[in-house]
Amino acid sequence: MIVMKFGGSSVESAAAIERVAGIVKAREERRPVVVVSAMGKTTNKLLAIAAAAIAGKRDEYIPQLHDLRDFHSREARQVVTLGERVDLDSFLDENFQELTELVKGLAVLGELTPRSVDAISSYGERLSSYICALAFRHFGLKAAHVDSRDVIVTDARHTQAAPNFPETYKRLAAAIPPLSKESVVVMGGFIASTETGVTTTLGRGGSDYTASIVGAGIDAEEIQIWTDVDGMLTADPTILPGGHRVKTISFAEAAELAYFGAKVLHPATVVPAMEKNIPVLILNSRRPEVSGTRIVAESVPCGNPVKSIACKRKIALVNIHSTRMLMAHGFLRRIFEVFDRFETPVDMVATSEVSVSLTIDNMRNAEAILEELRKFSEVTTELDQAIVCLVGENIRFTPGVARRVFNALEGINVRMISQGASLLNLSVIVSESDLARGVAALHEEFFAQTDPAVFERNGVAHA
Ligand code: ADP
Ligand code: ASP
Ligand code: MG
Repeated sequence: MIVMKFGGSSVESAAAIERVAGIVKAREERRPVVVVSAMGKTTNKLLAIAAAAIAGKRDEYIPQLHDLRDFHSREARQVVTLGERVDLDSFLDENFQELTELVKGLAVLGELTPRSVDAISSYGERLSSYICALAFRHFGLKAAHVDSRDVIVTDARHTQAAPNFPETYKRLAAAIPPLSKESVVVMGGFIASTETGVTTTLGRGGSDYTASIVGAGIDAEEIQIWTDVDGMLTADPTILPGGHRVKTISFAEAAELAYFGAKVLHPATVVPAMEKNIPVLILNSRRPEVSGTRIVAESVPCGNPVKSIACKRKIALVNIHSTRMLMAHGFLRRIFEVFDRFETPVDMVATSEVSVSLTIDNMRNAEAILEELRKFSEVTTELDQAIVCLVGENIRFTPGVARRVFNALEGINVRMISQGASLLNLSVIVSESDLARGVAALHEEFFAQTDPAVFERNGVAHA
């Protein structure tokens, strides 16, 4: 068995779904279990509908709901056999009726809880997975639809739920392999449910995580993440186009890149795969002939110290200063307790005797955190910062990497630098306005030459 996950843009239209069916069909003998995201930008649209509802904007959310239904109906009709159109229509009727009632309920309440966010955003994958199963049948595959909420069990931390692995693996191992003997199993990513059956989600971009959980639960031989790029690239293409394809990378490196902003993988994706030692491949659904990126346990010897550069935008730098704490112990503990209490992860830290600078990417509780910190220190914040993170297992064995980073970033104000914590990254904080220029300079410095055993060079010249 293999798991094949197709992201939103890979199932964004009838034509895209037809392409996916072809890709799956070509691998039918490997017994694929297919995990799909919501079609195109559906999750964003559902969240916009929820926001309009609680703002009481009926003239917005009603037409938005109609548009979403029309979109699904229009695309699905083209890939569903005539005889199954009745099923499709009643499925869409039922789902959109339910969704509309839910949205109207929100409008009455005027309040959006994390639990309601999950209820609403789950419709994207519920619709796409059912539609893909019908489409696969239309294109000559035997397909069985499984509701992920029956097999992926999580805690009740809505919008960021964490899987209950033993229970989830038990259910997956019981349900999927028997079905997969006969049919291609099709499931929605991202969605799950609590032990008591309340719908949850695994966080934005969570379909990658679903694929990895499913792969680990059924002992798949491979987990394939099909997306809209040729694989893991040496730089985020939205910041620096023209990066090179990384042909192979280790689990640890991929996890670090994902955590520090490489959106191509949800940060938790590699964990289940790594535990069961299942290779993860990143592949392009528009160019299936490209061999993509292979993520495996052991790293291939590489002549370059850096494998890829990840970036995280919208970072806030928090500077905490307290002369009262001079020579006192417990300063750091007090600070971190505050972040802990407000469930806000800290990414980077630098300390001196009486001050601490750290970064956070989640401003949800920022006001409350600052208020607490101000009780024992002076606090300033700098918004619109970015983390630039160089990742590679060779960084620690290569002298002079930090010098090369500073040389490349000449003229750019580096607000903070960190190396060593994970042994495989070197990160700097720069202002967002310097981000593109900084990444281009670092890319030029570290990828002017590339080891052909690890990188496939892109022909496009970059600035
Ligand atoms: P999907 O909908 O298939 O899950 P995503 O949009 O979540 O796709 O992830 C793919 C995107 O990740 C790419 O289009 C690219 O813009 C972005 N990305 C960021 N960093 C990288 C990187 N280092 N390599 C490849 N893609 C990256
Ligand atoms: N549809 C969800 C999202 O947009 C999950 C995913 O695509 O991975 O975040
Ligand atoms: Mg994604």
